[in-house]
Amino acid sequence: MGHSNPYLIRAIKKQANKVWHVSNAFIIPEGEMLAKRLTQKTFADYVIFQNSGTEATEAAIKVARKYFYSIGKINKNRILCIKNSFHGRTIAAIFASGSKKMTEGFGPKVPGFDHIEFRKFKPRFPNIRSKIKKNTAAIMVETIMGEGGIKSIPDKCLKYLRKICNEKKILLILDEVQCGIGRSGDFFAFEKSKVKPDIVPIAKGIGGGFPLGAVLMTKKVAKSMSPGSHGSTFGGNPLAMTVGNAVLDQIFNKGFLKNVKKISKYFYMELNKLKKDYPNIIKEIRGKGLLIGIQLHFDQTEFIRSLEKNNLLTIRAAENVIRILPPLNVKKKEIDLAIKIIKKVCTDYKY
Ligand SMILES: *Cc1c(COP(=O)(O)O)cnc(C)c1O
Repeated sequence: MGHSNPYLIRAIKKQANKVWHVSNAFIIPEGEMLAKRLTQKTFADYVIFQNSGTEATEAAIKVARKYFYSIGKINKNRILCIKNSFHGRTIAAIFASGSKKMTEGFGPKVPGFDHIEFRKFKPRFPNIRSKIKKNTAAIMVETIMGEGGIKSIPDKCLKYLRKICNEKKILLILDEVQCGIGRSGDFFAFEKSKVKPDIVPIAKGIGGGFPLGAVLMTKKVAKSMSPGSHGSTFGGNPLAMTVGNAVLDQIFNKGFLKNVKKISKYFYMELNKLKKDYPNIIKEIRGKGLLIGIQLHFDQTEFIRSLEKNNLLTIRAAENVIRILPPLNVKKKEIDLAIKIIKKVCTDYKY
């Protein structure tokens, strides 16, 4: 929602004067309201509030395992993930990523995770059937791989995953921590595919900069999470709930998501012009909505530093990709400025 958003500031100040913290043994109206809004607008029936994305993905794994435990399939606990994906930095989440970079030095390996490859240029999941074992409980993927280089899983592939999950009677977890809450131009990045996941962890965007994560789920799987099976001291606290509601106030505003789509279209158009002008630097423009990747032909470290020197903050992703995630309410003139800076760095770049 951008730096120093007046609407969010007003909301959090008002709540800070009222109450900051309440034990999660008690229901608070701000939390009830946020839970209602998140479930009424989505596939989900229940939500658990957390403080971060990694806690949300861990809770998603717990829910999947507890579901099969509750129906007497106590050994059905393995999670099938995409190799070199990103689900957070806690000890289980790093082993879910299947990435050497993330796990090196942090052994012993946490068991219970298997991995499949996702090939972007022939979008599909080769040999996925053979990777689903008797004890596989769920498939967990990011709808758009962020850290992995801004790679969207095409709707066709999402549908295929849903079909396989139905066939094998296992659960589909879609990690929308980075790509969810309007970032893709839809509330969830999987929305257009019409696929209905069982469990969806969210975070980043819903907090508007304040620590807030959540896991959304259907009633079927939520039933297994009996009182006491999960909890969090700060998760769902009044400040976080207030911010979450204030973020949704803006996102659910009429025309807000339409504008994300519209302005991102403009951004892609301008970026693709740069790609045409600098074909030796820019290899590909990737992304969906305002989750944007510029893939270079070479290591992006220097380039990112030059952008920063020119006052444009970006972040790296795998495969030589520069990630740009502007606020969802970014203005055209700010995009024009960003394009000007990227163009300047391209022009000055020695390679
Ligand atoms: C950022 C991210 C996480 C982890 O979130 P944190 O709030 O940093 O713990 C998990 N999954 C995805 C897809 C992410 O992008």
